[in-house]
Amino acid sequence: MSFYVTTPIYYVNAAPHLGHAYTTIAADVMARHMRQRGEDVFFLTGTDEHGEPVAQAAEREGVTPQELADRNAERFQALMPRLEASNDFFIRTSDPRHEKRVQEVLTAVYEAGHVYKGVYEGWYCPRCADFKTEAEAGPDHTCPIHGIPLDWEREENWFFRLSTFQEPLEKLLAEDSDFVQPRERRNEARAFVAQGLQDISLTRARLRWGIPVPWDEGQVFYVWFDALLNYYTALAFARDGHDATPEFWPASYHLIGKDILKFHTIFWPAMLMAAGIELPEHVFVHGFLLGGDGRKMSKSLGNVLDPFQVIDELGTDALRFYLLRDVAFGEDGATSMDAVRSRYETELANELGNLASRTTNMVRRYRDGQVPEVELDAALAADFAGLSGRVGELVGRASLTAALEEIWQRVRRLNRYVEEQAPWQLAKDPERAADLDRALASLAEGVRVVGLHLLAYMPSAMSRLLEAMGERGQELRDFGAGGGGGSVQQLEPLFPKR
Ligand SMILES: [Zn+2]
Repeated sequence: MSFYVTTPIYYVNAAPHLGHAYTTIAADVMARHMRQRGEDVFFLTGTDEHGEPVAQAAEREGVTPQELADRNAERFQALMPRLEASNDFFIRTSDPRHEKRVQEVLTAVYEAGHVYKGVYEGWYCPRCADFKTEAEAGPDHTCPIHGIPLDWEREENWFFRLSTFQEPLEKLLAEDSDFVQPRERRNEARAFVAQGLQDISLTRARLRWGIPVPWDEGQVFYVWFDALLNYYTALAFARDGHDATPEFWPASYHLIGKDILKFHTIFWPAMLMAAGIELPEHVFVHGFLLGGDGRKMSKSLGNVLDPFQVIDELGTDALRFYLLRDVAFGEDGATSMDAVRSRYETELANELGNLASRTTNMVRRYRDGQVPEVELDAALAADFAGLSGRVGELVGRASLTAALEEIWQRVRRLNRYVEEQAPWQLAKDPERAADLDRALASLAEGVRVVGLHLLAYMPSAMSRLLEAMGERGQELRDFGAGGGGGSVQQLEPLFPKR
């Protein structure tokens, strides 16, 4: 089985911030989890480099757009290892191989009769690189996202017959469909289609920084179509020497923020239908991370959570854990540095970190570091039953917070188990050696299983834990399904107190 997950490609003019980190981490958790399940995984991220804002910024700085894009793309490439993202490729839309493929796909759309010449007039946000309908525009024709005044633009360009796809899109977004998740977002897309679809502008006449339209050299493709196609084009050249499209297309999951819903749930599938390309399986739309005051993050409000501050202070694992733990993935939620510190102390250091050090210490102290090979505690086994299936099912539909909660319930169960069994008491009574064996073996097994399931969320700390616990593989498995026994090494604190 193959699994292909993508993040949006990030606009190269922006500075990397929490929103970029969020989607990237979520996609990475899915990719890592699927690899642990033995799936053939492809995880794609990258940068969106064309369009007016890049051309304008380059002009201001007196460099070419390509030079600006090269410089800014590096900041996003550097972000990936800091987040411990395991992306298989990083696409840049100024890559000539992408450009060639975009021209091929859109020429097919043109030749199929879905493109015609017309005049476009409308309210346009240069930062979104998008026209806004009257309904979408903010007060006094401002951009609802950027708050800046919209420009009234008029130009002759090529149009895509989006209206042709009214019915196919209604079907795609129908009540029983899981193409768009969660359901509220699907309903939003449906409502947009229900208004009646207007044809949309596919090209730009005024702009030079874009991919040339093969049948009209005076125009370039609208940056959004060039960008959306990255999900498809990348597979053709991401793996040296062969075209991986047959292995990985259609994509399993596109993860996106709700601000780009219209492009991904309406324009994108319509474009693929027009080109005769199979549709992706799912688009998962996550919410917005808000400031601690529940308002949109902004520098002027001083409520911005800086992912790099979290990484510097508490580590990448803490950032990854926090973002998928504190805000239900798919919903909006408040975030703050105080909340990060609090989760770190109470859950990572006290619950998981202490459990790990107590377990390794007790096996070392009472059994010379050898996990006893005995039958495991049946009651504990019952509380772990079906964990890997349940977590797999949840991660498989991008319910990353719910999956994490399933795992965390077992972390708490193991802490209760330590208190119930009180191995330090059992160790005082030689007649209870068998009970102590069973308690330590069960605890060690529980910690291994929890570590395996948390590995996708916190790759560094959990690798250290699994190594200390003598767990050799990374395959997900259920409690009691491992070989048992084995030796345990000393473990430095996983989440040291700050
Ligand atoms: Zn805007």
